[in-house]
Formats: sequence, C-alpha cells, structure tokens
Amino acid sequence: MSLCHERPDHPEEACAVFGIYAPGEDAARLTYFGLHALQHRGQESAGIAAGDGKSVMVTKDRGLVTQVFSESMLASLEGHVAIGHTRYSTSGGSSSWDAAQPHLSAIDETIIALAHNGTLVNTNRLRTRLLDLGVSFRSSTDSEVAAKLIGHFTQKTNHMREGIRKTMELIEGAYAIVLITPDALYAFRDPNGIRPLCIGALPDNKGWVIASETCGLDIVGADFVRDVEPGEVIRVNADGLVSEQAVPRRSHALCLFEYVYFARPDSRLDGVNVYEARDRMGRALSREAPVEADIVMGVPDSGVPSAIGYARTSGIPYAEGVVKNRYVGRTFIQPTQALRQRGIRLKLNPLPSVIAGKRVVVVDDSLVRGNTSKQLVQMLRDAGATEVHLRIVSPPIVWPCFYGIDTDTQKQLIAATKTIDEIVAYVGADSLAYLSLEGLLACCPAKTPGFCAACFNGEYPVRLAEQQQLGSFCASLEPRFWPEEHAGMTPLFDLM
Ligand code: SF4
Repeated sequence: MSLCHERPDHPEEACAVFGIYAPGEDAARLTYFGLHALQHRGQESAGIAAGDGKSVMVTKDRGLVTQVFSESMLASLEGHVAIGHTRYSTSGGSSSWDAAQPHLSAIDETIIALAHNGTLVNTNRLRTRLLDLGVSFRSSTDSEVAAKLIGHFTQKTNHMREGIRKTMELIEGAYAIVLITPDALYAFRDPNGIRPLCIGALPDNKGWVIASETCGLDIVGADFVRDVEPGEVIRVNADGLVSEQAVPRRSHALCLFEYVYFARPDSRLDGVNVYEARDRMGRALSREAPVEADIVMGVPDSGVPSAIGYARTSGIPYAEGVVKNRYVGRTFIQPTQALRQRGIRLKLNPLPSVIAGKRVVVVDDSLVRGNTSKQLVQMLRDAGATEVHLRIVSPPIVWPCFYGIDTDTQKQLIAATKTIDEIVAYVGADSLAYLSLEGLLACCPAKTPGFCAACFNGEYPVRLAEQQQLGSFCASLEPRFWPEEHAGMTPLFDLM
C-alpha cells in the first residue's frame, strides 16, 4: 500500500501523460514544461521520448521532473515529436528504472515509445499469451503489455492504427495513452473515458499537444481544442490530425475523484473548471452539514477552494489556520525517525494566533484511513482550538480503486469499517460530516453525463474478473458486489 507523498493519508494518483507534434519546435523541451504542470499526478519517476523522423530516443529515471532532466539531457532529445510521463506505480508496482515510462519497443526496425495513465485489469492472460509467442518483457507493468500488443498487431497488419485498434479491443480497464513513432504522435483513451485526456493546438498552426489535464496545455501556450473521446484514437503526422472511433464508446465513466482531489484546480475536465467545482462542493456541504463555528479553514491544497465555498455560503469567516511546508514532500531524502514522529507537522504548521480560542470548521477533500485527520485535529487542539468540526467534500470512500489510483484495501478504509460516531471518536473531532454523492455529482456538471464513482458506491464500470487473481488488493472486495455482467473472464482472444 502506498499513499501520497504530500498527504500521507490520501490516495496517490497514477500518472500523467503529455504528447506533442510540432515541426520546427524543440518538442522535448516543451514536453519538459508540460510535465512540470502535471507533476502533481505522479512523483516517482519522469521520462521523455523524442522522435526526429529517423529514430526515437528516451530519457527516464526515478525522481521528479527537475531531478531527472538537465539542460544537456534535454538537448540530446532532438526531434519534432515527443511524449512525456510522470509516474506513480500501481499495476506492476515496481519503482525500478524499467518500470519508468515511456516504454521503448521495436516493431521490426521501427522504434516506438508509449506512456500510459491508468491501470489495465486483464493483462495477466494477455502477457502470458505474448510470452508464449516469444515476446520478451523488461518490466511487470500493464503498460508494457499494451506496448507489446500494439507492436504485435502492427507487425501483423502493417498498420499502426490497426495495431492500436486491435489492442483496444483486447485490453480492459482505464487508459489514457500517448505513443510516438519517429515521425508521428498517437493518443487514445479507454471506451469508458475513466482517465482524462485532452487535445490542444499551438498558436500559428505550429503543432498539436495532448495532455492529461488542460494545465499541461496552458504552460506551453496551447489552446484547448477538445477532450479525446472515449474509445477514440488520434494520429498526428505530416498530414495533420486524424481521428478514428476505434472501439465503441461505453457508458461514460470519468473518475469523479479527479474533481475532488487529483486534478489541478486550474484544469478543466469535460467542460468543468476544477476550482469552481471544488468551490461548489464546499457550498453544497455547508448547506448539507451546517455547524456553528468561528472560522472555516481548508486543508491545503485541495481543501482550500472548498473551504472558501463553505465559508461564503455559511457566513462563517474563512481563515488560513495552517501553513503548508510546500516542498518537504518533494524529496527522496528520508526524514529521521524523530522527524517522522512529528507526523503531519512535517507537512503542515498551525497558526495559533488564528486558531486559539476558536471553534474551527476544517474542510478536507477526503478521509481515507483517518490517521492524518486524527493528527490534524490534535494539532489544532494543541494550537488552542476549542472545537474542531471536520467537513469532507466527498462521500465516504468504502471501496478500493482498480483504475489507476492507489487507494487502500477495503479493510484499511476507515469508512468501510467504522460508523460516523466511531470515526469522530477515533479522530478526536467534535463532529464529522461528508458531502453526499448526489451533492457531489451536482457540483460537477460535466458535458457528458456519467462518472465512475466506484470508490464511493462500489459500482465498477469495467470488468473486475482478473482482479480476483491479484491477491490482497481484491481479497477485500466481496464477490456479491461484482456486477453480474462482469463476472466472466476475459473474452477469448486470438493473437495469431
Ligand atoms: S474508483 Fe474512485 S478513484 Fe478509482 S476511478 Fe473510480 S472514482 Fe476514480
């Protein structure tokens, strides 16, 4: 189990992808800046692959974007087409260099590179079948299975888009993938659209950009064009951008948690500005769960817009009750045991002059295990708060995520094992309330109806059958909650 570096009681995002096709531009350098904007989605490794018309080169390593790349490294990645990736490991959880992305592989003499955000749920059998056919793997990641499948089918059909289409017919789960050959950029998204992916255009027709979030477009000066549709494949090369609905769309299931926590507040997801959505969540929670108090504060960063919304609607003044030690989570230097015992104080420092003698409403985005909230409540009481009321702008998380987010097993999710009164007693708060699922959905008026809300309601949009074999992660999931139509195994497939 792993949790967020910055918020140790929060789920970890699984990755960001970025792609660019821009003749005459330094594609790798623009990708570097794109990855900067998307760093919040994965902080374990970073990589860039660039194509110059003849070949594809990659540089990747463990660490943050700034730790992995130097000026000279970027200069060595020449070319007009590039993809980039920041990673947090989920499926194939190794944090080794080989597991870092982009993955390089060869189709005959042609090198391709692939980067993936999400998790595939049926790669065990596909991998075994490829091994039987003599395909070798460098890592245990699901992303490499996708890369090898695309290579296999492209070889057989002599057509990259056909190779991608056949791969999309086989793989199940969440994926937003970018891929380059030496002279073309491809991007495609799973038929449920679980992970976000958008298209941007550089000014003066200089090229096209693909990014997990719109903040990745903004930083390189690209204008948002549209989201990549679920099941769609985009190809950009010298002939321009072409689109194909490679596999039929299914019910739309964009991850609802993107709005709550994962996405940057300045991004737009399916037409909804994330900051405004968080502001609405705070307002809605204030109406659903009012409380008498003196100040409202948010837990940085994602809780702050919601706290401002809660304050505005309730009429209780907003105040900054804690200051975030902004860079401490962004290091691989392990703290000493003495520092670690300070727990949340490593990340957040209270402002006693704001808190002392006050009844405080604390607005946070989610409550996973409860350990951080417990420390936070104690920290606020130590700083002089007379009452601490926790307000969470998402419903209780009672199911694990299988689609690229590293949440705990069900047994470790506090809302799955304790009542609200028991959680209040555990964290030491005076009260606790969650935003209802209906309330949350109303705050996210996306253009396309339908979300994945499985961690809140257990309704998984994609088959889970092979997850049964993934051991402890799924052991906590009671089979009675498996959707009936997904209870079968992966359909028969033929790679020959
Ligand atoms: S289960 Fe939760 S975190 Fe995972 S994709 Fe669905 S909404 Fe997002």
